[in-house]
Amino acid sequence: MAEPLISLSGIRREYITGEDRLEVLKGLDLTIETGEMVAIMGASGSGKSTLMNILGLLDRPSSGSYRIRGRETSSLEGNELAALRREHFGFIFQRYHLLGELTARDNVEVPAVYAGTPREGRHKRARGLLQRLGLDGRADHRPGQLSGGQQQRVSIARALMNDGDVILADEPTGALDKRSGEEVLRILEELNAEGRTVIIVTHDAAVAARARRIIEISDGEIVGDRRTDGAPAAPPAPARTRDTRAGGRFGSLGEALRMALLAMNAHRMRAFLTMLGIIIGIASVVCVVALGEGSRQRVLSNISDLGTNTIEVFAGKSFGDVRSAKISTLVVADANALAGEPYVAAVTPTVSTSSVARYQSTEANALVNGVGAQYFLAKGTTLAAGRFFDADAVRTRSQDAVIDQNTATTLFGVDGDAIGKVIFLGSVPARVVGVAEPQQGGFGGNQNLSVFLPYTTVQTRIIGSQSLRSITVRVADDVSTDLAAQAITEFLEGRHGTKDFFILNTDDIRRAITSTTQTMTVLIAVIAVISLVVGGIGVMNIMLVSVSERVAEIGVRMAVGARRSDILQQFLIEAVLVCLIGGVLGIALALGFGAAFAQFQSNFSLIYSASSIVAAVVCSTAIGIAFGYLPAQRAAGLDPVEALARV
Ligand code: ADP
Ligand code: MG
Repeated sequence: MAEPLISLSGIRREYITGEDRLEVLKGLDLTIETGEMVAIMGASGSGKSTLMNILGLLDRPSSGSYRIRGRETSSLEGNELAALRREHFGFIFQRYHLLGELTARDNVEVPAVYAGTPREGRHKRARGLLQRLGLDGRADHRPGQLSGGQQQRVSIARALMNDGDVILADEPTGALDKRSGEEVLRILEELNAEGRTVIIVTHDAAVAARARRIIEISDGEIVGDRRTDGAPAAPPAPARTRDTRAGGRFGSLGEALRMALLAMNAHRMRAFLTMLGIIIGIASVVCVVALGEGSRQRVLSNISDLGTNTIEVFAGKSFGDVRSAKISTLVVADANALAGEPYVAAVTPTVSTSSVARYQSTEANALVNGVGAQYFLAKGTTLAAGRFFDADAVRTRSQDAVIDQNTATTLFGVDGDAIGKVIFLGSVPARVVGVAEPQQGGFGGNQNLSVFLPYTTVQTRIIGSQSLRSITVRVADDVSTDLAAQAITEFLEGRHGTKDFFILNTDDIRRAITSTTQTMTVLIAVIAVISLVVGGIGVMNIMLVSVSERVAEIGVRMAVGARRSDILQQFLIEAVLVCLIGGVLGIALALGFGAAFAQFQSNFSLIYSASSIVAAVVCSTAIGIAFGYLPAQRAAGLDPVEALARV
């Protein structure tokens, strides 16, 4: 003889709460054949639901044997139980337990999603079932928009979705009015007539009377087992061909993604607030990197304006040397001697002082630079008008001046002609012979007014000292700047007997600035990453709250056949999605900030690198996984029975 569909022997279930052991099922023996319609009847608290949960593989007995078609279930592990659940059982609950965020059709389809049925087949079957249960027009309604009877019919459709042979209904009419309850019972009878095994749990004798076999339990023991139709044995099971077969995990990732979006949509505000930490974190990381890059490139372009292969020799030990003003060892003779060195293309001594520049009644503070005739060559200065002064002018201490565009505009107006005009620097008159083009950027900014005179003139007439502030050297094209800097150091040390000067070489500056901005960027990025971690902890926090809020949903999903890995995946995807969307919004925010910044600040822009944006996306995904894992695991680890009980 074939194995019975369900066979229980010696089933015990006890709950241990603290010190107390409560034995709810006290050794049940029970066999149910395919095609039976069984009512399990008993008073409230007699252990009916406990038995039902064990039958449906949601709960395990403390001891005893439960075999389904001869297959012992006590040794099966979680995924195998979930598979059996999907394949054999359809649950109907007293309180329907539909997922509130899904439409009726989607609710019906959930078991098939976990079974891996392809989308087309799923839709078709759900449509058919809803039609059969008189819910054609309601497929797109959410549970909240349906009456109790309609909801229970949706849940029946869901129980039928995977075409399981056994329908388990726990007080299916308990929450319904008489008419809806009657309808549900009629449907159950119909399903039984088709060959399905129907097991109804009820405390209501009238409901139990509709079954063909009534098993009475009281206080965890079977006290009666009778047939209402008087038939001696179970009717022969009509051969049923199942019309769906569990496939692989087809499309389950896409489904999980859809579920996650639905869940987020249902709690938009919360999702947004959760994202906020990520948004701010990502936006600041991207902005900081772009700021660092922007400032680095701007400084570097300023440096290249200085001329790529110039070296400046300054008096003193370093910038800010308080004695450098008093050091008078750097003299014109040094510059002249350097000019004879083979690696030098051009040399110019430089002195500078600030002075009031005046033309008629217009006055302004200007930086007066005393330079050699080769200065303009060394610096690569170009003229807007007029000419440079030459070596003769330097020798004769002529009072010819080259002024920059700022000075020209300040003293002569935008359209004024400066050439040939006499201006006063303090009390010293000078004739303007040339106007220099503005030098892009340049250290000290381009707001300064600069006036260039022969250094001889500045030394004798304005400063009254022979010492130099600096010597600018343009290195010959075929010589490396570093080598030249070394040679100049040795050369001047030889002349001075000591190193009372320092050398700034543009390569050095470039390197120093690059490394400084890199250090800054790394530092600020570390702070931004810390803020991201804080954001991630926020995500974890909210996800944990969300898990405890959705315990019932998780229970329902498990009851209809979700594996623990499905639940884990769903919550993980939600966390990743929150972080990813937050990341994308953060990047958008950063780009928006850059655009706004560009509106106000024209000579400096944020430079976004693709790598920092990619890193931001990767980072937010990683945060989602890292901080979503704990909540997702907590969700997946829930006990389905306890989860279902918490509604
Ligand atoms: P019924 O469905 O017949 O009303 P149940 O099977 O739900 O009864 O419960 C049977 C008994 O088991 C009750 O006394 C109930 O208090 C107890 N019980 C149910 N679940 C738990 C649990 N998780 N922990 C402790 N006791 C429980
Ligand atoms: Mg109950």
